Amino acid sequence: MSLLVEFLQKLLKKLNKYKMKIVQITLAIIISAMIMSCNQNKEKVENTTQELTTIFPKGEKGSNDLFTGNAYPTALVEADSIYNTLVGNVYFEPGARSNWHSHPAGQILIITDGIGYHQIEGKPIEIIKKGDVVKCPPNVKHWHGASADVGLQQLYVIPNIDKGIVKWNEAVTDEQYSINNSNQ
Ligand code: MN
Repeated sequence: MSLLVEFLQKLLKKLNKYKMKIVQITLAIIISAMIMSCNQNKEKVENTTQELTTIFPKGEKGSNDLFTGNAYPTALVEADSIYNTLVGNVYFEPGARSNWHSHPAGQILIITDGIGYHQIEGKPIEIIKKGDVVKCPPNVKHWHGASADVGLQQLYVIPNIDKGIVKWNEAVTDEQYSINNSNQ
């Protein structure tokens, strides 16, 4: 009988040792998972603060009457007697955006870097990012610009400028912009 008790006690001790091992292994897994997720967050933050790739000259800062924040529009193709099309680049720093506006002949946006927003009045925000091509229909009130955390680099193409280039309206308020941010 005493032998059996001794055996059972030994077995219990062994089991306890295993239990400790299992607890230790579990803790080790949890801790390494936490460390890994911390590193991932750090990478995300680093990615959002990285400089955008510059393809075209940055140009001069756009007027505060037409843009909120720091936006840098640069003309690349001026219209002439042969081409009735304007092409240009706008570099928006994070948080920067155009005023509300419309284009009598429409506009095509080609996003070359970063993340931003395009919104047609009365419609939900559209997230635009590197590689996206967006058509803004003629005479439709809209705005475009960078996201709050990441800048945006976009080419614009305005065709048929004999119909007009752009009609400017009021600024996109912080409230309108932050509603868009919370919808993401
Ligand atoms: Mn536009």
